[in-house]
Amino acid sequence: MEFKRCKRCGCFFTSVDDVCCNCSSKDKLEITTLKNYIEENNLNEINSLSSLSYNTGISQKNLIRHVNNQNFPDININL
Ligand SMILES: [Zn+2]
Repeated sequence: MEFKRCKRCGCFFTSVDDVCCNCSSKDKLEITTLKNYIEENNLNEINSLSSLSYNTGISQKNLIRHVNNQNFPDININL
């Protein structure tokens, strides 16, 4: 375990994750929201972070993190 800084709130914590335990539930919620949005709209690619952010209410910074964490292996990312 290393001492890390949470990528959402900036607090220090020890975990193998990128975010602290307070924020990991927020992350999970956002990933679910994103998955539902992708399913409902039959998306197979992401080419605009700003519209995705607008439509899901998730910040662009967090969207990038979720996408980079391989949460969406079936989606092509064209940013
Ligand atoms: Zn946090």
